[in-house]
Amino acid sequence: MTKEVPETTEEYIEAMKAEIHTLLPRLIDHGLDDSKGLLRVACPEGSDTISNQPTLNDKNIINHLAIPAHEKSISRVLEECSSIFDTRVVTQHPHFFSFIPSTMLPISWVADLVVNAFNPHVGGSFAGSSCDIIEKSLMKWLASKVGFPPDEAAGLSVSGGSMANFMALTAARDKFIHKTEDHYRAVIYVSEHSHFSIAKAARILGFGQHQVCQIPGHKPQELASSILKDRAAGRIPMALVATLGSTLTGSIDPIPEIASVTSESDVWLHIDGAYGSSVLLSASYSHLAKGVEQADSLTWGAHKWLFTSYGCGMLFVRNKQCLARSFSAHSDFLDNGGRQENFEFWDLSLELTRPARAMRLWFTLRALGTDRIGEMIDRGVELAEEAETVFRSLGNWKILSGAQMAILVVRYEPTDSSEKYLNDLNKRIGDVALERNVAAVQTIEFEEMLALRLCIINPRLASRDLTSILHTLDEIAIEMNAGRVLVQ
Ligand SMILES: *Cc1c(COP(=O)(O)O)cnc(C)c1O
Repeated sequence: MTKEVPETTEEYIEAMKAEIHTLLPRLIDHGLDDSKGLLRVACPEGSDTISNQPTLNDKNIINHLAIPAHEKSISRVLEECSSIFDTRVVTQHPHFFSFIPSTMLPISWVADLVVNAFNPHVGGSFAGSSCDIIEKSLMKWLASKVGFPPDEAAGLSVSGGSMANFMALTAARDKFIHKTEDHYRAVIYVSEHSHFSIAKAARILGFGQHQVCQIPGHKPQELASSILKDRAAGRIPMALVATLGSTLTGSIDPIPEIASVTSESDVWLHIDGAYGSSVLLSASYSHLAKGVEQADSLTWGAHKWLFTSYGCGMLFVRNKQCLARSFSAHSDFLDNGGRQENFEFWDLSLELTRPARAMRLWFTLRALGTDRIGEMIDRGVELAEEAETVFRSLGNWKILSGAQMAILVVRYEPTDSSEKYLNDLNKRIGDVALERNVAAVQTIEFEEMLALRLCIINPRLASRDLTSILHTLDEIAIEMNAGRVLVQ
């Protein structure tokens, strides 16, 4: 008599294997309902739904699904997955221009599948073995693109940009702040373009809001005089954060000029390039990152613009001793000559057990090759420029911030309209564009106005599709304005 339910764990795994054999090809090509295979779901065509939010009823069902109960077949659980993943925002949809869209390609999730199947422990060189070597060498190659000195620099994969920013500020603190009473004297300089993860990191590190000093536009002259003034007043200018590709407009702080100020005044320069660092791999646009080689640390998000799935960021530091000072697992490491050049990853980060995130990135980069990666990044920059040209050719669209690093901010401004009306109208255009599945554009607050922001980096988007989307957006704008339902 065959057993209905496997008894031992081994029997259970054998049964699982048999199921996986039959499921995987079907899942990839056809999916569970024979229409949407993983290949399509993970890399959707333009006609797929961009945002499918769960209804109240869906939420009840999904809440119920959250709790494990009796053992189930994998097929059954996969069916449950399907109802969970059906209601989601598809950030890698070619018409998703909100946030920083995901640039994940099918190759990226295949990489995840393969790497996670082996599940290496990349905390250190013993368990990480060859994966540890790959991560160190790949990070060294990427650090050379940044322009950091190859022997002193270090790079490592982390969960994302927020973590990298946090670790960089920790390293800066530990370079300059040695006594508890000095903590309250530290100053971190940011600009209005800095990502909120910087202020968040400062807060978690115990710095007060008044210790995060915002210098509008990061004007080098103003920075220099603020630093001088702060020092004269007994404060400790600790770190300056410049942004390479701000999330709102794609703006780039004047990094070479800022770097002269920080090196002159001995302040840690951190570059938040969570979004923009990827231009370092572009043949045509790497000049946008000019000056980053002079920084002390740099954040680079692979899940932003380097085609991986989520959970993959990187931190690079000019001098690995600075990371080790903050994160080494051994407080006496600096006296240990033997280890100074051979830090383990656990000496350089918050984590001990580390997944093989760098292997996921390696797989994707290795498969795409350097030329194609560069071209795919270029494509984003060019798509946003094309979008700007289209908006300029249409009536009533005002360009509030022109295409920079693939980001563009526009506002539909018919004449004789109040500011309040224009704000409501633009929000409505964004909402209707998503409701009608035309595109996801982000309504943002820009210089006290509501405006529409588009980040266009999906290399799969064809120019003619982009033009057609923008024309449809214009039709929506005309329709919403014709109704004038929003006039007060
Ligand atoms: C996204 C982003 C971050 C935060 O990165 P996460 O990976 O989302 O934690 C930081 N800075 C900039 C400029 C970003 O665009």
